[in-house]
Parts: sequence; C-alpha cells; structure tokens
Amino acid sequence: MKVLVINAGSSSLKYQLIDMDTVTVLAKGLCERIGIDGSNLQHKNLVKGISEKIESPMQSHADGIKLVIEALTDTEYGVIASMDEIGAVGHRVVHGGEYFADSYVIDGKVKEALKMCIPLAPLHNPPNITGIEACEKLMPGVPQVAVFDTAFHQTMPKKAYMYAIPYELYDKYKIRKYGFHGTSHKYVSQEAAKMLGKPIEELRLITCHLGNGSSISAVKYGKCIDTSMGFTPLDGVVMGTRTGSIDPAAVTFIMRNEHLDVDGIDNLLNKQSGVFGISGVSSDFRDLSAASESGNEHAQLALDMFYYSVKKRIGSGVAAMGGVDAVVFTAGIGENDGTARAEIVDGLDYMGIKIDAEKNKLRGEAVDISAPDAQVRTLVIPTNEELMIALDTVRLVSEL
Ligand code: AMP
Repeated sequence: MKVLVINAGSSSLKYQLIDMDTVTVLAKGLCERIGIDGSNLQHKNLVKGISEKIESPMQSHADGIKLVIEALTDTEYGVIASMDEIGAVGHRVVHGGEYFADSYVIDGKVKEALKMCIPLAPLHNPPNITGIEACEKLMPGVPQVAVFDTAFHQTMPKKAYMYAIPYELYDKYKIRKYGFHGTSHKYVSQEAAKMLGKPIEELRLITCHLGNGSSISAVKYGKCIDTSMGFTPLDGVVMGTRTGSIDPAAVTFIMRNEHLDVDGIDNLLNKQSGVFGISGVSSDFRDLSAASESGNEHAQLALDMFYYSVKKRIGSGVAAMGGVDAVVFTAGIGENDGTARAEIVDGLDYMGIKIDAEKNKLRGEAVDISAPDAQVRTLVIPTNEELMIALDTVRLVSEL
C-alpha cells in the first residue's frame, strides 16, 4: 500500500508518499506560504532523483493538497500514474488531548474530538484539521488516519501527569501534562527494542529527542510513564528558543517588571529564551559550538545548561522507572552532535551509562555507542516520524 503522510502547519504543508510494501519513500516535499503571496511547492521525486519547484497561488490547504496530488501524478516528475494508487492518508496531529491514546481512522466522531482539542493547541490543531478536511474532499473514499504527538504519552500515570494546582482547574480545562514528540519517542523505542533484540515489554528506555525542541521520555516496558514536556512543549529541558522548566514566579515577576502582557511573555518564553536567549548568538547548536570555540562564554554557558538539563532529566527518568536498560538519542542534536551526547552522559557511569569515544563519532545511522563495559546500552537512532505515521496508518487501515 502507498501511504501519503501529511503534516499541515499554519501556512505550510509537508508530505511524503511512502510505498509501505517496500518501505521506500517515493516522493516528498513542502508547500510554503499557503494563504500568503509567493506560495510555492518544492517537490522531490526520490525514485528518479529529481526536484521541481512549482510557483502557484495557494489560498488554502485544499489548494496545496491539490497541487501535491498533481505533482505526485505528473508525467515528468511524478511517481504514480493516478491518485487511485494512494491507499490511505496519515495525518500528523499535534494534540489529541485525553481523547486519543492511539492513532485513529478519522470519522465524524474523531473530527468532533479533534475540534474539542483546539483550545489545547490553538495554533496547531486548526491547520491539522484543515489538512484532513482538504484530503477528505479531494480523495473521497480513501481512509484518513490521525496520528497524534500526544498519544504515546497517554499511558502516564495520574501522579505523573497532574499538576499540583486546584483540582477543579483540571476538571474545567484539562490542565495537565500531555507530552509531545510522541511519534518520535514511540518510533525510536520500537527501533531500540529491535536493535537490542529484546521484546519492548522487557525494556526500560530513556528516549532523548534532542532537536530545536527537545523532550526526554521514560518508556517502561513499552509504555511511556513520564516525559519532560508538559501542558505545552515549553516545559522540560532547555531548548533552542524555549526556556524549558522555570519557576512560575519568575514568569509573573518578569511580566510585572518588564510590563509584558500575555502575548509578550508568551513570546519571551517561547521565542527569545533557551540557548538563543542565553547566548544571544543562535538557537542552532552548530553556531553555538563555533561561537564557543572562538571564546564566546555565553555560548558555552548555553551549551552547558542544555547538557546539564538533559542529564538531570535522564536521572529523573531512571528514578521513575527504577532502573534503565538503554538510553536512546535522536533528532537533530541527538543524532548528529557527538559532543552533546558525550557531555550529557559524562558522569553517569555510576548508573552503568558509559559511551565509547570512537563509536560516538559515527553519524547518520542507527548505532550502539556504548562502551564495551557499560551495563546500560546507549543508542543513536535516527527518528522517522513520517514512517511511524505510515506504519500506524497501515496497521489501522488493514483492520478496516
Ligand atoms: P530538529 O528539530 O530535529 O530538526 O533539529 C534541529 C537542530 O539540530 C538544529 O537547530 C541544530 O541545533 C541541531 N543540529 C543539526 N545538525 C547538527 C550537527 N551536525 N551538529 C550539531 N547540531 C546539529
């Protein structure tokens, strides 16, 4: 079956067409500036190795998806003869609230629940829903599946996901920890089990998704029991431009003294903070390393704060699980930045976590970087959220 994976953002739409019989990405691309002047589609045919940029007005996500289908079926740079070859569509949806602990085939009820989740992700869920509705319109009869960033974390026990605020606020607004990057944590957990040659039900894993946004999960016997992101993706470790955990009283202090309203503080915490805010240089770790090497102390401090916050989260995950069998690194930093991995696990040998300096230099592939005498395996596994979405889509559609 060929699965079209759609990730719709507010003014963008990413896609991949994956042949799940051979597990091959046939084509992928990105629609940019939907609803804005200068909208365009960048399409890659990975079978023939050709790229095409199509400049065309896109008023809506429906226009974008129409162009995607035209590109996929184009005689020159397309990869399928007709739209009928698309067996199912898998949609990335950011927030599933407490409604979705797994992926779901989309029907009227699922769409209702998706709309109920809008207050929890007001910027992300609406474009996700628009993308779904556009596909339903253009591909009637083709099953659509929703795969949620939050679903994998729904197994957390109540003591882990509740905040110590008046209980009625949970009842009223469903304020609690949800966790994000669930598709990535799920994918690398499954891949880790394969690499270790053990059933996931026998493994205690710490999965570190370290990218522009970062989160750490404790995955015990295949189920997430805790994660570092919270009600929103702002919580947890220090990130590119996000604070991570911060004393809430510091937030109200800043608002009062800097005369910031809700939007002002939201912007400061989400876009002006993290390693960018500390360094004043960049949110990109490559820029920070370069700046630090040329003597920028704030850049080094930002890196140190990041390493330290991830190290502490690993420790708390191990405590929550009562031990650990493997630590997994993934995403932009986790997969590519050997210095970050070495700094994060430095000093954790008392827990059995120890890496091999030579293996830690390998890049771009799934690799076990543990030292020969380490009791805990440390793995680097490239994440593949699109493949996870396609796998869930095939699983659910085959049950129809
Ligand atoms: P992601 O959000 O997973 O796409 O990760 C993006 C981030 O990964 C970038 O902002 C960089 O900080 C980081 N990154 C990507 N490649 C490298 C690399 N080769 N070395 C260090 N950091 C990297």
